[in-house]
Amino acid sequence: MFEQSTRTDNGYQLVIPVVHSARHTTHPHYPVNHPRPTLTNLHSHTYRCKHASGDAVDYVRAAHAGGAAVYGISDHAPMPDGRHSDVRMDMDELDGYEQAVRDAQTAFPEITVLLALECEDFPENRAFYREEILGRREFDYLVGAAHYTPFEGAWHNSYIGMNNGRFLRAYSDHLCAMMETGLYAFIAHPDIFGCSVTQWNQNLTECSRDILAAAAMTGVPLEINAGGFRKSQRQTAQGSRPQYPWSAFWELASDYRVTVVCNSDAHHPDDALANLDQAYDLAAFHGLTLAEAGDLGLDSIMLV
Ligand SMILES: [Zn+2]
Ligand SMILES: [Zn+2]
Repeated sequence: MFEQSTRTDNGYQLVIPVVHSARHTTHPHYPVNHPRPTLTNLHSHTYRCKHASGDAVDYVRAAHAGGAAVYGISDHAPMPDGRHSDVRMDMDELDGYEQAVRDAQTAFPEITVLLALECEDFPENRAFYREEILGRREFDYLVGAAHYTPFEGAWHNSYIGMNNGRFLRAYSDHLCAMMETGLYAFIAHPDIFGCSVTQWNQNLTECSRDILAAAAMTGVPLEINAGGFRKSQRQTAQGSRPQYPWSAFWELASDYRVTVVCNSDAHHPDDALANLDQAYDLAAFHGLTLAEAGDLGLDSIMLV
């Protein structure tokens, strides 16, 4: 077992044991990439998910006006079995979605528009994602997200109930399995437990360390989701904080050899590039390394 020093909130150095092989031993804090990367957002939606407005071209128009060089449309993926259709497009909308993104590419050739989907990692859907979406349809990437967590034989809403340690454990196990599939360019809002837990606790430390170790081992970037800055704040004894991104999680992340991607998670065209500065500031504050194109599996795309 190695030892290393890590930064604490009050600036003192603390020596802690290194228990995961994925943890680095030489650079407690990676330098943040400077200058900031080309303005990019890889997480946005369209009206088809039934809780967003606007179509692909509306987001791309706003992103282009805002100076973005690369923009990814990643609406909630349809389920072949029609599950949770109230928060995602239907299967018969997939063709129209694909065409809408391709039309946006044509309308704004000055900006690299990427075609993507945000997916729940239901194991029975993986072949669909791999063979149909990434394969036959040649989507550029998939976002892995756990809005639902498998627990006690059913899928439960991940926005609530993470005070239950066993449910939290199921969530972190689910994220780790998701990363190991190799299907996903990055994992959306890994700290979504901040929606239902008020105070940081030991269970969160343990589960977060497992998530972070898996991200380090698999090389899958984690998303600092700026959409959380636009949600209501969580009130705590120490004051208010965003539900996510939760700074305590990203402080832990600085102990690991992980990369992060900052996204707006836009559900309205006006939010095409919203709150990205806050997300980058959080990454910089914790000394986190920004994912580059290769980390995201986007080798042919320049994300300088
Ligand atoms: Zn959504
Ligand atoms: Zn999303």
